[in-house]
Amino acid sequence: MRKPKIVVLGAGYGGLMTVTRLQKMLGQDEANIVLVNKNDYHYETTWLHEASAGTLHHDRVRYDIDSVINRSKVEFIRAEVQDIKTAEKKVILNSGEVEYDYLVFALGGESETFGIQGLKEYAFTISNVNAARQIREHIDYQFATYAMETEKKEERLSIVVGGAGFTGIEFLGELTNRVPELCREYDIDYSKVRIYCVEAAPMVLPGFDPELVKYAVSQLEKKGVEFKIGTAIKEATPEGIKVAKGEEELQEIKAGTVIWAAGVRGSSIIEKAEIENMRARVKVNPDLRAPGHDNIFVIGDSSLIINEEINRPYPPTAQIAMQQGEVCARNVVKLLKGQADDLEAFKPDIKGTVCSLGDDDAIGVAFGKKMTGTKASFMKKMIDNRALLMIGGPSLVMKKGKFKFL
Ligand code: FAD
Ligand code: NAD
Repeated sequence: MRKPKIVVLGAGYGGLMTVTRLQKMLGQDEANIVLVNKNDYHYETTWLHEASAGTLHHDRVRYDIDSVINRSKVEFIRAEVQDIKTAEKKVILNSGEVEYDYLVFALGGESETFGIQGLKEYAFTISNVNAARQIREHIDYQFATYAMETEKKEERLSIVVGGAGFTGIEFLGELTNRVPELCREYDIDYSKVRIYCVEAAPMVLPGFDPELVKYAVSQLEKKGVEFKIGTAIKEATPEGIKVAKGEEELQEIKAGTVIWAAGVRGSSIIEKAEIENMRARVKVNPDLRAPGHDNIFVIGDSSLIINEEINRPYPPTAQIAMQQGEVCARNVVKLLKGQADDLEAFKPDIKGTVCSLGDDDAIGVAFGKKMTGTKASFMKKMIDNRALLMIGGPSLVMKKGKFKFL
């Protein structure tokens, strides 16, 4: 008898959780499991700000997919997904195509530029290992070039971070630890470096606990960050950015490096595949399937689920993507077993949020308790280690885990 084919797209948090659970729940003769990913490695998206600032080597934030999948049960295809033909149950890859009976879409999200001019050309985004490596190298290059040139261009040493959401703030935490090292390395006076954070909303980390936000801002200001709050980036240029406060005139900030960390949307493949979506995110049914597609699950940053208590979408996080992966795997198995009427409804279990401020500091709320400093930083590392444990078990934690607590 022909075995049903489950194709999982993306080896990020959602995809790997699904596959590692499916390979435990299903025997070799019960299904063909296929995993498709662009690279033969998984990267910890939640650690990319560290690799981007250069405080953690990029090899520390990734591991081989082979080290966590059971190749006797899972076929791995290293390829780029280009489109999905839902009527033909087919995924188009850059190197061919793959058919499916059940599809799990877990390709993550993409940077949202809101159509702002010049961002795609002149700003960097903290989006994957290649991007992180490029950001680190670019900042290094600016410092090295400044040290070399006779007519010094001070703006080379200016770095703008657009967006004071969690990504922007975590990156600033790492950057302010890295810049003093760079200054020593290139014999540059630290006072020449300018680090700006431009945030359109009236506060840093909009919606987060104000007391914790105050702590974060004060810590980052002490390390030299200049916050421009209630100020929106309107354009990026080869020289830097143009910003405006409310209806005021545009102002220019010259900078050698611009990092755009002002939001995410779903995967453009969702839009191409013409699956009903909002900014490339699919408002999934409670069982995580795409409306109108009984055999397609969408999880992670490309899914949209509403927090009924406040009637707003949950922010896309690794925490949710991993929890969805577990439920998705169980629901796929139920479908295989003919239990379509008994699918599990997904409900996020938010354990807290911790935002790092470099390797040695953080703010957060976990299990209902607020924390700052080394305690919060310890908690953040435990969360990072837990993600490794959930996907790759204790051996992966030993290989890639974070154990420097002071
Ligand atoms: P991802 O983990 O991004 O994985 C998607 C995978 O699909 C990747 O392997 C990618 O290479 C692959 N892929 C993409 N497109 C294609 C294609 N066309 N073909 C083939 N393969 C493809 N969340 C938290 O909960 N806690 C945190 O502390 C936290 N910190 C963060 C820090 C940073 C700097 C950033 C950027 C995000 C952070 N987040 C955090 C958010 C979190 O990383 C995402 O919500 C999470 O990664 C989403 O998981 P996912 O499985 O949907 O996608
Ligand atoms: P975000 O949407 O959370 O924050 C983006 C910020 O950019 C917002 O504060 C917004 O007001 C601002 N912004 C938008 N347009 C702007 C403009 N033109 N000029 C200036 N500022 C502008 O995005 P993010 O920080 O990239 O986070 C993405 C997701 O990842 C979120 O769900 C977040 O919760 C999650 N995340 C979590 C953690 C963590 O838990 N530690 C860390 C990083 C990211």
